[in-house]
Amino acid sequence: MNTAWIFDEINNISQIGMTVNGVTRLAFSEDDLKARAYLKKLIDNIGLDYREDTFGNMFALYKPSGAEGQIIGTGSHIDTVPNGGKYDGLLGVISSLAAIKTIKEKNIPISHPLELIVFQAEESSRFGHATMGSKIMAGKLENFVQWEQSIDNNGISLVEAMKKAGYNFYDINKSVVEKDRYKAFVELHIDQSKTMKYEDKPVAVVDGIAAPLRVKVIIHGEAAHSGSTAMRYRKDALVIASELVLAVRNLSLAYDERNAIATVGKLDIFPSVMNVVPGTAVMYIDIRGINSKTIDELFGLIRAESSKIALRYKASCEIELISSEKPCMLNNYVSDIIEKSCQELKMPYMHTISGAGHDAMNMAEITECGMIFVKNDSGVSHHQNEEILKEDIEQGARLLYQTLKNLAK
Ligand SMILES: [Zn+2]
Repeated sequence: MNTAWIFDEINNISQIGMTVNGVTRLAFSEDDLKARAYLKKLIDNIGLDYREDTFGNMFALYKPSGAEGQIIGTGSHIDTVPNGGKYDGLLGVISSLAAIKTIKEKNIPISHPLELIVFQAEESSRFGHATMGSKIMAGKLENFVQWEQSIDNNGISLVEAMKKAGYNFYDINKSVVEKDRYKAFVELHIDQSKTMKYEDKPVAVVDGIAAPLRVKVIIHGEAAHSGSTAMRYRKDALVIASELVLAVRNLSLAYDERNAIATVGKLDIFPSVMNVVPGTAVMYIDIRGINSKTIDELFGLIRAESSKIALRYKASCEIELISSEKPCMLNNYVSDIIEKSCQELKMPYMHTISGAGHDAMNMAEITECGMIFVKNDSGVSHHQNEEILKEDIEQGARLLYQTLKNLAK
């Protein structure tokens, strides 16, 4: 496998949209179109069958004679956040293309066609919706009107941006994929946490993609004069909230092993005046995990604890569910094949989960899905300092190649 080709092409494409503060290649922007045109040329040079769907998702099929089964898909995205890193998305696209290129050049016999998928508009940065391309493919586009009305920071609507790029927004529903098209899908992606760096493993099998459940807690205490109200008579909403913040932390610590976490990220108090005991506190809790049951269980404990703490102060609290997204478990034969491939290559690996969303979670609705993470040497992502060691890029690419060979056998 030609890893120099991978380094070169990552460098070439990451120059498109490069600024002094990182890469800015927003979906449907001029730089995005330039990068897509460059990628299409690479695909043509390799000799794959190229097509696009009505949203601009790109596909490159390799179907040699004998490969008559369902398709094995692989890929990621090339749009970025403003001032993003070089590798988020692009690493997976180029590693996938390199693997297919090598299988084609070596004429390795496969019984399933291989297809590179480059998902359009994975990042929510421009229009406020994430993984748009894969949502359309999976038939998960539920808020058509919201999408139709979404505009970017410059007042350009998604409808206009698509039109300028040569696509018709009102045709996007034509790009839903028939359910049995893919046998499996694998996405390789840079780890967006510090976990793999701390564990010092070049690659990881991703066991699931976490999704958030969001809750609003309103604590009704009693506003009172800070000078004339004795401590024992107070129903201080902030004090109650503070106990709850610590309870959220302590309850979540017990769920560490089961990959569930909870955060109080926003807390408002009223009236928020220096000489008034806070009467009301409104806090927002973000609970995440890869298993719906575990998330619900942790939420149940937090709910019970909120009422208990409020009661102790003779106050009350209201709990409101804001949103609940479905996490995605990736424990299937694809993950098993990734793991088996690590063992065949005698490559050190670990299991991890993704705290961030990926196109793979939508693909999981229409086929069996797996993900490979590659160690992030900087520990940061969505940032210009995002970095991967060359040897880790190489390990990731070798693992994806081996996995695709095994899946397409
Ligand atoms: Zn990404």
